[in-house]
Amino acid sequence: MTVKDWARALKKQWLAERSRCQSCGMPVIYDKKHKAGSPYCSYCHDGESFINDMGLADMRARVQALLMSRKASVLARFYMHWRLATLRRWRKPLWWRPVR
Ligand SMILES: [Zn+2]
Repeated sequence: MTVKDWARALKKQWLAERSRCQSCGMPVIYDKKHKAGSPYCSYCHDGESFINDMGLADMRARVQALLMSRKASVLARFYMHWRLATLRRWRKPLWWRPVR
């Protein structure tokens, strides 16, 4: 792997991270009905309000079930578990504290 390949992979990952839905963590580039400028995907937010009224624990359970069905690695599942707490919908001033 050359430095150029590495830089390209890093850029791709960075763009995916930037475009994640701020509720479920899905990169909105995979959302065909996503509204330009919205920080949320069309599955979470209809433009006026959240479609599902749920807490962070519920969202984590839903995302884990989805990742399991796609046979995602343990590392990817752990990453998304942590990443969800950093998204705008769930973020707290001290977001690294366990959310109860
Ligand atoms: Zn979403």
